[in-house]
Amino acid sequence: MSSWGSPSRLSSDLYRERTASEQPVSLRRKRCACGKSVTAKQLVQYRACIACVRAGAKQMQAAA
Ligand SMILES: [Zn+2]
Repeated sequence: MSSWGSPSRLSSDLYRERTASEQPVSLRRKRCACGKSVTAKQLVQYRACIACVRAGAKQMQAAA
């Protein structure tokens, strides 16, 4: 029986989840529509990653 192995692994997973949930919202990783991971702050400000914001700005300039 090696039941002493799993509890420590479980507690480390719980610790990781807890520390992740305690991070400021602005530092949490979100995912842009293009699949690139961005900070929540970036998503709130620009609703996309830098690449998508720049691509959108280029398209708007081309249309104007
Ligand atoms: Zn993007």
